[in-house]
Parts: sequence; C-alpha cells; structure tokens
Amino acid sequence: MSAEKTIPATLIPGDGIGPEITESVTEILAAVGAPFDWDNQLAGMAAVDATGNPLPPQTIASIHRTGLALKGPLTTPVGGGFKSINVTLRQEFGLFANLRPTHTIVPGGRFDKIDLVLVRENLEGYYAAMESYIPVGDDPHGIATGAGYNSRAECNRIVRFAFEYAVKNNRKKVTLVHKANILKLLTGLFLEEGRKVAKEYEGRVECNERIVDACAMQLVIDPWQFDVIVTTNLFGDILSDLTAGLVGGLGLAPGANIGEKAAVFEAVHGSAPDIAGKNVANPLALLMAANMMLKHVGRADLATRIESAIQSVITEGTVRTRDLGGTAGTRELTAALKQKL
Ligand code: NAD
Repeated sequence: MSAEKTIPATLIPGDGIGPEITESVTEILAAVGAPFDWDNQLAGMAAVDATGNPLPPQTIASIHRTGLALKGPLTTPVGGGFKSINVTLRQEFGLFANLRPTHTIVPGGRFDKIDLVLVRENLEGYYAAMESYIPVGDDPHGIATGAGYNSRAECNRIVRFAFEYAVKNNRKKVTLVHKANILKLLTGLFLEEGRKVAKEYEGRVECNERIVDACAMQLVIDPWQFDVIVTTNLFGDILSDLTAGLVGGLGLAPGANIGEKAAVFEAVHGSAPDIAGKNVANPLALLMAANMMLKHVGRADLATRIESAIQSVITEGTVRTRDLGGTAGTRELTAALKQKL
C-alpha cells in the first residue's frame, strides 16, 4: 500500500438514482487510486426517512470538517414541503460560485467540439425566495409575489471568480449575461460591477455582454462563440441546462459549488425518480463532477486518466447508457470504464 496521504471528504449518496450512480463513481475513483477518505452522510429524502430531518446536523458537521463533498442528487418537494437542501447547503457553506463546464464527449452530434464554462452566482438573485401571497377577494392566494436581490459585493466576487478562472485555465473571453434592459436595478448592478472587474483584466481576458434571452438563442445558433459565461443565479440555472442539452443532456453535465472554505461537487441533474433503481442511470455526470473534485485537490493526473477512459468508452460507442442511445446499464458502463483506466 502506498504511503500517500488521504483526503477526508464527505459522501452524500442522495435520493432516487443517487445511490446507484454514487456507487459507480466511488468504485471508479477507488480503481484509479483517488486519495479520498469518505465520510458517508445523509441528506434529502433519504435523511428524512432515517432521521426525520432533510439535512441532519451530522451532515453539516462533516462538511465543515472536510470542506469537501461529493453529493448525489436530492429530491425537493415541489410547492410545499422543506426548502431545497441544495440551496440550504450553498447558503450554509457560502458556496458562492457554481461552475458548470460543458464539452462535447459524444462525437458526431449536432453540436460538435463545444467547450465552454458557465459560472453562475449561487447565493442571491431570485433564489433568495422571498415569496408571499396577497389575497384577492376570497382567494387567499390571489396574487403570488417573489422578490430577489443582488449585492454589489457578491456581483463583484462572482465576476472576479469567472475572470480568475479564465486566467488560470487559459480561457480567452468572459461573457457577462444579464437582463439590465428590464431588471434595470437587480441585474443592472451585476452588469455595472461586471464591467468594472472586466477593466482590471483588459489585455489579458476579453469581455463582452449578452442579454439573457439573446444569449439563449446564440447558444443554440452558434455556441462556439462562447468561452466563459458569467451570470446571476436564475439565468445561470436555466442556461446551464441549455448548455447541457447541447452536448447530450443532463447525463453528461457536472457542476461544482465553490466557496472560500468548502466545495461541493455534484451532477447538474436531479434524482430522476422515473428511472431510479433500474440500473439505467448514466453515472457520467457525477463522475465528471468527481473529476472536478480531483482537480480541485490537485490530482489533475487522476482526473485525466478518468477523462480518457470516458472518452474512449463513449467514442467506441458499444457501451452507452439509454440516455445516450445505447442499451448498457449503469453497472455495465462502470465495468467498461474501469477496464480503460
Ligand atoms: P431530473 O434531472 O431528475 O430528471 C429529468 C429527466 O432526465 C428525467 O427523465 C430523468 O430520467 C433524466 N435523467 C436525469 N439524470 C439522468 C441520468 N443520470 N441518467 C439518465 N437519465 C437521467 O429532473 P426532475 O425530474 O425535474 O427532478 C427530480 C427531482 O430532483 C426533483 O425533486 C428535483 O427537485 C430534484 N433535483 C435535484 C437536483 C440536485 O440535487 N442538484 C437538481 C435538479 C433537480
């Protein structure tokens, strides 16, 4: 056994397809010799069933201790019920930046050779979820209202994060995405800070601007024009599903939530209750999130080995999950990936 130092990390299998894709990913990480020493914890419906609490204090304490987590998707009740645990985690650990890279791994699709990164502000905007009802006549829910906020400090921090990411990862351009023509204050402040930060990087990183609706169209017509996109919370949420769609869907979209003291890595997709427990879920999005985690802890060497295995299995094309047009199960794909490491 090597004397290599282990890195404590929290593992949250999550709900729905979470446990099966987490099992696949930890198996592959073990096979490649990843240094993570997992602390298994519960969150979401799995935690409600076991403890009555969707985010038990032990889970929070574990992430405070490790500062690092790999998280399967969590089911959030729609309408009523408890607040999204994902949102709570972001707030608890100040995970201000959501990083969502998109690159083509399935060759020959409608959109080939896509390579862009979306940086989403993760704490503010409409996700502050300050919602209420105003009664109209005898309908207590006659009007629903929702308010959001963006702070100058957070707008500055997220745009700076995007530019720093561009510098470190040899990216050439950052696009500020906003809706300052309509939400003149809420997203105008983001644009104002964005322009300020962009000036500091002049000559090193190019900067341009897009209004969010035009950006959505441009992403479909000519996604190759984009390099790094930075935007506010809700726009980032929507556009990142769009970018996932460009390269083969949610089964291939990883994400990282990054703060000053902790980072949580996850797939962009949800718990997919429709296919849970059927051995058909695609584990690649969570595996790519684990790759981001390896890079985060300075083990890009291992991430590269896993990336090559993914690329070669997908390119050969015989072992693909159903969402990518194949017939392979989660376990079959896991075995094929391990063979390529
Ligand atoms: P979803 O992403 O779970 O599923 C959307 C569609 O994509 C479904 O048809 C599903 O089968 C498919 N899909 C998703 N992941 C897949 C994978 N790995 N392999 C193959 N197919 C896959 O979105 P939803 O149905 O809107 O949400 C289900 C639950 O997940 C909700 O409770 C939602 O709140 C939650 N959710 C959690 C997260 C998270 O934890 N980060 C993110 C999004 C949604």
